[in-house]
Amino acid sequence: MGLNNGGNNATIESLWNSWIPRKVNLLIWRAIINRLPTKTTLKHRGLPNIEEGCIWCNFGLDEPQHIFIRCQVARFIWSVIASWCKTPQLATVQDILEWIDMVNNLDGAKEKRKIIKSIAFTTVWVLWLRRNEKIFKTNDIQIQSSVVDIKTLSFLWVSSRSNLRGLTWEQWNTFSIV
Ligand SMILES: [Zn+2]
Repeated sequence: MGLNNGGNNATIESLWNSWIPRKVNLLIWRAIINRLPTKTTLKHRGLPNIEEGCIWCNFGLDEPQHIFIRCQVARFIWSVIASWCKTPQLATVQDILEWIDMVNNLDGAKEKRKIIKSIAFTTVWVLWLRRNEKIFKTNDIQIQSSVVDIKTLSFLWVSSRSNLRGLTWEQWNTFSIV
């Protein structure tokens, strides 16, 4: 499967991150090709009375571009994550294609780039969980607990799936890595 991205070809293989579970990789891919069961997609499939608005801000639509990148809630979470892992570009991306370019072209040593890509994937995953909780259980998003979840989950995934055996929570939490 491929996606033409203004000259760069993103494929599911080129984007796949082995330090992150399959379900998260698939979520990212479905977001990119706009195949997530969002309200906008359901409306286009013929459910006429669906309210397509963003569940957090009411200024955008319930679609990947908005809920993962452009929504003020997402932007705030990205800004906290960007300053934690000292990668400002995580907070400045404007759309999903730019996001792919960014995660695939980070600076620095190979392992560090893969760590940041893992954190970026985990952030999208947690945003999706929070979006679903809001829709199905009406739980409002809590920024601080979402950030803690992103840090914890990404640490669990990277420390168990990568070859970075000595990685400690202390190093992770302060991003004193590589
Ligand atoms: Zn929004």
